[in-house]
Amino acid sequence: MRIEDPQLLTAFRELDVEWKPAVSLAELTYLGIGGTTDLLSILRHDAIPDLLNLLDGHGIPHKFLGGGSNLLVIDGELPFVVLQLASRDPDVVIEGNIASVDAAADLGRTVTFCAKHNLGGMEGLIGVPGTVGGALRMNAGAYGTQIGSYVREVKLYRAAGRRLETLHGRQISFEYRHTSFASDDMMLSVKLELPSKPYPEILQGIRICNEKRRASQPLGQKSAGCIFKNPPGASAGRMIDELGLKGFAVGDARVSERHANFFINAGHASAADMLALIAGVRDRVRGAYGVTLEYEVVVWNA
Ligand SMILES: Cc1cc2nc3c(=O)[nH]c(=O)nc-3n(C[C@H](O)[C@H](O)[C@H](O)COP(=O)(O)OP(=O)(O)OC[C@H]3O[C@@H](n4cnc5c(N)ncnc54)[C@H](O)[C@@H]3O)c2cc1C
Repeated sequence: MRIEDPQLLTAFRELDVEWKPAVSLAELTYLGIGGTTDLLSILRHDAIPDLLNLLDGHGIPHKFLGGGSNLLVIDGELPFVVLQLASRDPDVVIEGNIASVDAAADLGRTVTFCAKHNLGGMEGLIGVPGTVGGALRMNAGAYGTQIGSYVREVKLYRAAGRRLETLHGRQISFEYRHTSFASDDMMLSVKLELPSKPYPEILQGIRICNEKRRASQPLGQKSAGCIFKNPPGASAGRMIDELGLKGFAVGDARVSERHANFFINAGHASAADMLALIAGVRDRVRGAYGVTLEYEVVVWNA
């Protein structure tokens, strides 16, 4: 979607919103798939209510982009614009056991920064790509850790009230890859309360998690992490593997040989290839186990 109205472009400048025309989402997502649209980079959080009123007033649909590590975006000219928070410096500030983190901060760097200040707990999240905002939205987790366990407070733009709000951790429910945030809420920053731990001990935990990840995941390849959520008491990857679907492909979209719940773009996969692969695997699992797998990957198709 292209924004060409000169009045809108002037209004963006006044709100410190940087307009980047015709950006390729294939270049901004870990899967390397996705069409083209205008991207609006937000420098000031307090400009967000005015920006969203402006977009709504002009009938311009939008979506929020974090680090692009959990997204499958359709091809071609996209029917929405993309909003992204610009990164700030510093993006993490530590006071006692509280880390105040900007939503645009890189999650892995946040884990190691906190570790250097002897704040642990998030070792399992090392190696989860993307931003802290995206991790909050998805309640990212691995190896028994989930970010929601450490959330003391979140600042966000709430689409329902069209304003910036602060929620206490107790007001938010964090479940397995699911949160109580509305789909059009935008995370802006978070206060994480982390347990004190000596740096060498945290580093040891980080090394163990890195090893496990390297041993089980296709890290050098283009993917969005796990495509499906694990059904209660079962492993989606194991089900797919048991059906002999590792290596199963549609075009260049392929089930990883290393981890059956990771689907990779092995070359020039289109969104249609990847969606067909996902649907095909889901049908096979439904047929064999009677279980309808739920998507973990977020699909931007309209
Ligand atoms: C190799 C690999 C390994 C992975 N391993 C794991 C893992 O172990 N555990 C795990 O949980 N995930 C894993 N993932 C998936 C992914 O990294 C996480 O879901 C991550 O937290 C997404 O963050 P992001 O910033 O990239 O979000 P994006 O992919 O950009 O967006 C994901 C969703 O969050 C929304 N969003 C992003 N930022 C904001 C914001 N500021 N406000 C509101 N909504 C926002 C988007 O609109 C979208 O709906 C993996 C992915 C890859 C590629």
